[in-house]
Amino acid sequence: MSTILGAQLPKDEFLFGLRHFGKLPSMRFARLFPMDRDPDSGQPMHVRLDGAAALIYDGAPWLFGKPTGESLAWLDGDLLAPVTPSKVVCVGRNYAAHAKELGHEVPKEPLLFFKPPSAIIGPFGTVELPKESERVEYESEIAVVMGKVVRRVDRQEALSSIFGVTAAVDVTARDLQRRDVQFTRGKGFDTFCPIGPEIRTDLDLCALRVRGFRNGELAQDGDVADMLWDIPTLVSYISQVMTLMPGDVILTGTPEGVGPLVHGDRFSVEICNRDKSQLSPPLLLDVQCATE
Ligand code: ZN
Repeated sequence: MSTILGAQLPKDEFLFGLRHFGKLPSMRFARLFPMDRDPDSGQPMHVRLDGAAALIYDGAPWLFGKPTGESLAWLDGDLLAPVTPSKVVCVGRNYAAHAKELGHEVPKEPLLFFKPPSAIIGPFGTVELPKESERVEYESEIAVVMGKVVRRVDRQEALSSIFGVTAAVDVTARDLQRRDVQFTRGKGFDTFCPIGPEIRTDLDLCALRVRGFRNGELAQDGDVADMLWDIPTLVSYISQVMTLMPGDVILTGTPEGVGPLVHGDRFSVEICNRDKSQLSPPLLLDVQCATE
């Protein structure tokens, strides 16, 4: 369903907006620092992954970084969070079934909140369960990475301003979220925003699923068609409020099936095709959990 605040969009307008998506070959962008390199010997690199090779860029590709012509071999453990945003904007209750499971009405407008960039950790990182909370939960989400500066854009322009998507966990201290009026504390602890492992460009943003696996067991499985507000509508809506910068990240909400994270848990988020087939190669974020 494609809606702007509940209004159905003409289908061809939506298809027109997809001209940049689902038609070009998807590319894979990551940030890495080789594990075996002296940590004082340089900066993390932006790279394009091409099989076993990482093609090195001279900057973030959403900030006009270009290939340097150099490449190196890479390992999973070299990968860092693929982006360092100026802000992480999140959308709450964007799937009706999830709003219901938390005992909330379906919102009339998108519900926005922030996670601080300091909450970000990379793939294969560890979520630290803070002593202040007795109930930390996972939320599997599709993360959008912006490719342009946008302010008060319509849905079409919003769509063409997206650089790509990656996977994220909106880790939430549910007890603190419920106790506080603001979401800042419950959503904002260090390590509460795992993201990655890489950004994919040119995916069809209206034909994706987000799936969450706790210790290998399927816990969440959401189709973007069940979002109350689809991805271009969310980007347009947020841009009415604040300027979105290249590299900014938007977490687009979680489907039903949220649940607890405890010490020793492993949690994975996969972005896959609507028919549950994997992307090629699979896009899978994997984190561990440990008490702080
Ligand atoms: Zn969330």
